[in-house]
Amino acid sequence: MSWMDAVKEIDPTTWEIISNEEDRQRNTIRLIASENYASQAVMQASGSVFTNKYAEGYAGKRYYLGQEFVDQIERLAIERAKSVFGAEHVNVQPYSGSPANLEMYYALLELGDKILGMGLPHGGHLTHGWNVNFSGRFYTASAYGVNPETERIDYDEVRRIALQERPKLLMCGASAYPREIDFEAFKSIADEVGAYLVADIAHISGLVAAGVHPSPVPVADVVTSTTHKTLRGPRSGIILCKDKFAKDIDRAVFPACQGGPHVHAIAALAVALHEASQPDFKDYASTVVANAKAMAEAFLSRGYRLVTGGTDNHLLLVDLTSKDVGGKAAAVAMEKAGIVANANSIPFDTRKPFDPSGVRIGTAAITTRGMKPEHMDTIVGWIDKAVLSREDESALGRINQEVREFCQSFPVP
Ligand SMILES: *Cc1c(COP(=O)(O)O)cnc(C)c1O
Repeated sequence: MSWMDAVKEIDPTTWEIISNEEDRQRNTIRLIASENYASQAVMQASGSVFTNKYAEGYAGKRYYLGQEFVDQIERLAIERAKSVFGAEHVNVQPYSGSPANLEMYYALLELGDKILGMGLPHGGHLTHGWNVNFSGRFYTASAYGVNPETERIDYDEVRRIALQERPKLLMCGASAYPREIDFEAFKSIADEVGAYLVADIAHISGLVAAGVHPSPVPVADVVTSTTHKTLRGPRSGIILCKDKFAKDIDRAVFPACQGGPHVHAIAALAVALHEASQPDFKDYASTVVANAKAMAEAFLSRGYRLVTGGTDNHLLLVDLTSKDVGGKAAAVAMEKAGIVANANSIPFDTRKPFDPSGVRIGTAAITTRGMKPEHMDTIVGWIDKAVLSREDESALGRINQEVREFCQSFPVP
């Protein structure tokens, strides 16, 4: 952490907390599906002098002076995003994924308009119309879920609900869905009911960038994403759209919903997009998926049930019902063993959201450290042991020691 020498000198209290977090990230197996390790290059750009700059407006049309290099960095990030995703128009200013969705709705809808998105309990995101979120308050939201048998999106059912509800905007994309999303199928439903199609690829944008998940960019009207999940960039957001929505999207981001952009995050995004355009990022993304599939096998061989029976992407939803333990207790035991994941609802969950039946597991972060399919059985073996010996503190401590030693072989960026 030598680049934090100034923090250490000026504010040792904060430095120590950051330093402890760095150790935690190094010494644990991080399986939270939305998390990753950004590269040193991304971190440095994110900590750069662009933190000091105000830049309300867009390149060439700013409100303050001194924008020569801000304009260059924003244009660079936009050009790279266009090239990585094949997008017609890109806005790189959203502060994160939720603001990107706020801005997208603001651009396309009037207050009270109907939206249709995947329900939160079935893997959708809060911003897709959930009632405690602005999206469920400002718009008239309805939800589709997964099929009770297959636990996959049932496109006939989505079509039936769309025909019944007649939404002005159809949202696809999820936070806890382990299967490929058929954007073409969503597009034909949206067209049939005259709705905009928006794809939120917050979780899978790295897989899409690398071509290991189909891209919604050619078919959807608008695509929103975070940049810090599988894309492995800074904490930020991005909106990609067809040219005909460009003006409305840009106005919605600034001045409607945001003030000055986080130029340091835009600089870091430019770096991340450069990394994502390199051949080794394709290897990274395909190993993310290979690791998730290997992990699925390892769980199935130990008698765990997986939602949909497996995975096509970077995440798994493990149903713990057959092991007679709730997701919360399992996740707490795993953390004591040095393996960090989150409890998660499974579709049609009979338990409460704060202590649901499942655990969500993702491979984006461990793949960045160089863990490979041959390591997945070892990790799942530890998870299984931790879940089974969850009352036994000393057993959990022993696993933690093994995990810590294992982690030493996989450097973090
Ligand atoms: C993570 C996520 C978001 C929100 O991103 P934040 O950066 O946490 O605001 C939006 N949509 C989906 C599908 C997500 O998974």
